[in-house]
Amino acid sequence: MLHRRSNAGKSLTALVFLGAITPSLSLISSGIDAAAATAPPAGHSQWPAYGKVPPTTSPEVQAWLKLVDWTKVPKIGVRHTKDPGPPACPPIAAPASDCWWTCSGCADPDDVVDCPGKKVWGLTFDDGPEPGTTEKLLELMHEKNVTATFFVTGMKSTKAPALLKQTIDRGHHLASHTWSHQGLTTLTNEQIVAELMWTEKFVFDHTGYKLKYFRPPYGDIDNRVRAIARQLGFKTVIWSNEWDTQDWQLPYKTITPSQIVNIFKKGISSIPARNKGVITLEHDGAPQMVAMARTLLDLGMKSGLKPMDIASCLSDKVGYNAVPAKPATNDSGEHSADGAAADKGVFQCSEYIRND
Ligand SMILES: [Zn+2]
Repeated sequence: MLHRRSNAGKSLTALVFLGAITPSLSLISSGIDAAAATAPPAGHSQWPAYGKVPPTTSPEVQAWLKLVDWTKVPKIGVRHTKDPGPPACPPIAAPASDCWWTCSGCADPDDVVDCPGKKVWGLTFDDGPEPGTTEKLLELMHEKNVTATFFVTGMKSTKAPALLKQTIDRGHHLASHTWSHQGLTTLTNEQIVAELMWTEKFVFDHTGYKLKYFRPPYGDIDNRVRAIARQLGFKTVIWSNEWDTQDWQLPYKTITPSQIVNIFKKGISSIPARNKGVITLEHDGAPQMVAMARTLLDLGMKSGLKPMDIASCLSDKVGYNAVPAKPATNDSGEHSADGAAADKGVFQCSEYIRND
């Protein structure tokens, strides 16, 4: 059961990650973020604080809560966590009907975990934008003539809003990684709405694009989170089993570049047996990650993988949801908010089991 071993390891590393970001959160609470935060648009309350789950009492969140038909949200309990971040996997497994990816490896049929085309490589970078790193990644992508999907957090976006537009202008694809990077199964229904919608709003206000794809931090999603995200118009993207590069550990020296290369080479060795492509997990958070991205791009392209952003790997010509007030007219049907209006009924659980 490769997926179970893989996910158990991920939970552990996610906890390490949580500890690793704590210093930056303390900087934030010292007031540095207040100076950097961009002003909210007229008529809106202040953008949510950096590093915190947005409050659910604001007029915006109260309005967004009405977008969800709560009778369609399974009554799955909020998961426990000692600290903000991923949940601690319980000793007794959660019911299979929860389809909890983090602790059981269960993916819903609608979750995107692989690119459908053989040898197609969904190239993704999480946790940005990060000034000083994102620009270098954009330069690298330009040099290699490839595009990627950047799963951005709302809180990081407040520090570098211009990088959002710059990323799009250079041909890349933006997607949501929530506002404050919590394990979503550890949040209440209302908090999940706030995390998703504030991020969507911030990116929309600064780019004009309405995010369609989202990746739950730590891959932490179950059928409660899915039901909310889906009704708000988001399509879930995780990553291919065994293609988590672990590059986020590089700044903390808990992994070496050669170990990451070995992880990647193991993935490459599985390509001939795969009947689908892959989605890799890399990060946009520190300069070491840019050098690693270069190494992995060279290795992957040499092995015949074709890197591209997630929208391209899914043959989604737009990659964003429609903006209701200004419906697009430039294509036929591609610009419909298919996720927002989705009423898929009962969610079915399928165990995420790979043969490779
Ligand atoms: Zn992340």
